Amino acid sequence: MKVGIVGAGMVGSSAGFALVMRGVASEVVLVDHNPALALAQAEDIAHAMPFAQPTQVSSGDYEALAEADLIIIAAGVPQKPGESRLSLLGRNAEVFGDVLAQTGKVAPDAILLIASNPVDIMTEVALKLSGLPAARVFGSGTILDTARFRYLLGRHLNVAAQSVHAYVLGEHGDSEVLAWSSARSGCETLDDVADQLGRPISEAVRHEIDQNVRRAAYKIIEGKGATWYGIGAGLARIVQAIRDDQRAVLTVSARVPEIEGVRDVTLSLPRVVGRDGVAETLIPHLSYSEATALRASAEMLRETAAELA
Ligand code: ADP
Repeated sequence: MKVGIVGAGMVGSSAGFALVMRGVASEVVLVDHNPALALAQAEDIAHAMPFAQPTQVSSGDYEALAEADLIIIAAGVPQKPGESRLSLLGRNAEVFGDVLAQTGKVAPDAILLIASNPVDIMTEVALKLSGLPAARVFGSGTILDTARFRYLLGRHLNVAAQSVHAYVLGEHGDSEVLAWSSARSGCETLDDVADQLGRPISEAVRHEIDQNVRRAAYKIIEGKGATWYGIGAGLARIVQAIRDDQRAVLTVSARVPEIEGVRDVTLSLPRVVGRDGVAETLIPHLSYSEATALRASAEMLRETAAELA
């Protein structure tokens, strides 16, 4: 599979590195409006290849993305001091206008996987600008938040994170919803498995896990300025689901016609992801408070998208 990456900054290059280490792509091409950066990242990643999986890694201009099966878009501009979120969004929407005009010319049928933040809004922007069907334009969404939730629950229960089934829904950001009521391990609800294992989930534990999922990015940004490894690995996981037509259930961000009474909004829900992108959306059964929180998250995203339009 040929994968293009537009935006060779920390997130784009980490995705490239993760693709090579996991052996997910036969070819990875990095493009950036700073070509020297794209070239340097491509060379650095290519030098890891002999320790990983055979992959052609290169950089180039947009023509180099011809016949890409999938393009990860991780391009964006940093927030200026004192700049409002909406102004930053407007500038990033301009970047997407530029990027998508180019990718549309050279690889009109490529699946677009959006990683730039705020990812739900940028996915909505990409969907509108590209004119592609919603199944082929989606964002990394809460794939990482879901991973953090499972990791923390697994650590508390002392079971593998892979054996914890729990999802984070809605916005990838402050209003995201941890779907506690549907979390499971084995055949058991979370409370039952926690009791059996003698590791009850008290209100304090629940609060701590919630905060550690919701605030994870802030904590990491305090220490190192941005986050990139987790999302890079998550992006590679999504690409793998597409390459192998796995029909894996992943929380990616995509347009849904209606959720909790909010129409035509782009957010994360469990999605069946395979060769053609998002094949199905699984509408969750939620507790009253989770459903209320998901509606609020959806309304906020809908309003932000409308303000930008
Ligand atoms: P992040 O931490 O999200 O990866 P970075 O600032 O490290 O953020 O990376 C964003 C990248 O996007 C930068 O390398 C920047 O040069 C690139 N970029 C910005 N605008 C464009 C554009 N119009 N076309 C291509 N790349 C762009």
